[in-house]
Amino acid sequence: MRINEKQLELVNRQLQRILESGNYYSEVYRKAGIDHVSSPEDFERIPFTDKADLRNAYPLGIQAVPDEQIVRIHSSSGTTGKPVIIPYTAKDVDDWATMFARCYEIAGVTARDRIHITPGYGLWTAGIGFQAGCEKLGAMAIPMGPGNTDKQIQMMIDLQSTVLCATSSYALLLAEEINRRGLRDKICLRKGIIGSERWSDAKRNYIARELGIELYDIYGLTEIYGPGIGINCPEQTGMHIFDDFLYTEIIDPKTGEVLPDGEEGEIVITTLVKEGAPLIRFRTHDLSRILPGGCSCGRTWPRLDTIRGRSDDMFKVRGVNMFPSQVEEILGLVDGVSSEYKIDIAHDDLKNRDIIMVTAEADGRVDFTKAAEQIKYLFKTRMSITPNVAIVSLNTLPRSEKKTQRVFDHRGD
Ligand code: ZN
Repeated sequence: MRINEKQLELVNRQLQRILESGNYYSEVYRKAGIDHVSSPEDFERIPFTDKADLRNAYPLGIQAVPDEQIVRIHSSSGTTGKPVIIPYTAKDVDDWATMFARCYEIAGVTARDRIHITPGYGLWTAGIGFQAGCEKLGAMAIPMGPGNTDKQIQMMIDLQSTVLCATSSYALLLAEEINRRGLRDKICLRKGIIGSERWSDAKRNYIARELGIELYDIYGLTEIYGPGIGINCPEQTGMHIFDDFLYTEIIDPKTGEVLPDGEEGEIVITTLVKEGAPLIRFRTHDLSRILPGGCSCGRTWPRLDTIRGRSDDMFKVRGVNMFPSQVEEILGLVDGVSSEYKIDIAHDDLKNRDIIMVTAEADGRVDFTKAAEQIKYLFKTRMSITPNVAIVSLNTLPRSEKKTQRVFDHRGD
């Protein structure tokens, strides 16, 4: 799947918009001599854009329209350095809601649903994205925001919420709490729309079973509107991405070479119609692949496979590349062990080698020593590395409403 004529035309309009605006990227493209593309090969010569550039352009250096057209900004925090600010025009906000409403529709959500929104509101794009899509669809938004589990569950019961929007960690926390309190029969949820961080099948199955809901992965990132630019359909074979708004490529994260459909690499997205902050060939650092062929649901939007992790989440211990998703897969194979974990990596100066410590949770039914041995064995056979393993009781590790940091690298501390 390569960029088509229509999409190329939209890219040219974006290039025009950027060059005329005199924004940060107008300089970049002027220097690179880029003002028009007439073929897929031309397009692939446009340099990538990256979060680091957006930080250089802080606060509003990537704005591509006059101030009077900007109606809102959002910001992605990032763990290091300056935040990134993304300005939106009224059309951008509306386009985002249109895509999000499509996501709900694909998931089988209708105007009769009551959508319980737990992601945060504010500078972050999450809560408001879920809400705007819900209103566009005509469903009832219940704008809870995160936290206060007691109130969440009370409102869920009183208002008979039918759709839960949450991160996988928070959905898990709610499922555990509803289960512990024996409230399952009072809950009317039928679907869950879950933010697209990578999560294990064990976690997915637990949430689906305990809440009695069908789960959908929604994709998105602040730099490209926010959540709601793609979702998996009931066929559960990857997430449809809306190619009338976005053009998606997969590249080799090391060489930048564009990979053919089916091969795994980093997702790169071009915004085709965004006005406030158009981005061309933005490196998401999310790892996935474009699934070849059509979907049996009949929708023709291209599909991305489940996000496997982030190229910048990858960590290296004793020369072995590891992803959090591999750790989750291993934990999912051990009976009684939850999907929450913590990894500490340190360097033993005396022996001059890296040490990896895995802390996992298990419930009271299982023998902690045996579970630890099993985890060690799975790491050894699957990753060729033997960690130290500590097992703690269920609910000891912190749960968070946002993406939880699970890997702590103390090398060089
Ligand atoms: Zn489909």
